[in-house]
Amino acid sequence: MKKTILLLLLFSIYLSHGKAQTQAIAHRGFWKTEGSAQNTLAALQKAHEIGIYGSEFDVWLTADGVPVVNHDDSIPGFNVQKSTLAQLRTVTLANGEKIPTLEEYLKLGKKLPQTQLVLEIKSHRRLFDEDRLVRKVVDMVKLFDLEERVDYIAFSMNVCKELKHLCPQATVVYLNGDLSPQELKEAGFSGLDYRFNVLQKNPGWIKEAKELGLTTNVWTVNTEEMMSFFINEGVDFITTDNPALLKSLLEKK
Ligand code: MG
Repeated sequence: MKKTILLLLLFSIYLSHGKAQTQAIAHRGFWKTEGSAQNTLAALQKAHEIGIYGSEFDVWLTADGVPVVNHDDSIPGFNVQKSTLAQLRTVTLANGEKIPTLEEYLKLGKKLPQTQLVLEIKSHRRLFDEDRLVRKVVDMVKLFDLEERVDYIAFSMNVCKELKHLCPQATVVYLNGDLSPQELKEAGFSGLDYRFNVLQKNPGWIKEAKELGLTTNVWTVNTEEMMSFFINEGVDFITTDNPALLKSLLEKK
């Protein structure tokens, strides 16, 4: 009897290690739920509450040099890069919050240790501002002692190079879709994070990236059909606006 239990235990350990499981990332947090809105503190908190791998958010630099969290370059009445934090804070977001600063976001993230912080640095009008922002973000992440819990993503090659330069150990993943897995590996990236259509047009890329030791991530996958497709492809991470749906699908697998 003891032997049977031991064998069953060993077999279950073998199974859990043998199969790489796809994990879910909430795109701009978990915002399609009551009391939430994209890129708000509530969206991070709610992503944490459903118990998934990570929560993604977007970071800009204001005119007075403050890193803030928002998706677009603008909020009603103001351009984020051309406005001060005080001006931006006059706007109320859909769930009643004001635009969060990165500092507030990291402070909350620090209290949610199970949730990986997927930090996108947006492409700015001037490379000079991208460089300033990268330095501020890296310093702040260090200050909060969150280096292990932040995965950086960016469309801008300049941002990615600056990140690698300032923190060579950091996870930096490129979003723009125009480099093959081999080219990403040679450029020193940790992985790829491409739009679903790029990975559908290049059906060998997930396998090739994995063979090169790169992580694989696809965005923004919102339908059950496409989620199942990429889970079967063996992708490591799916970024979605429907993290609760993806979670329930992954639990059924
Ligand atoms: Mg983003």
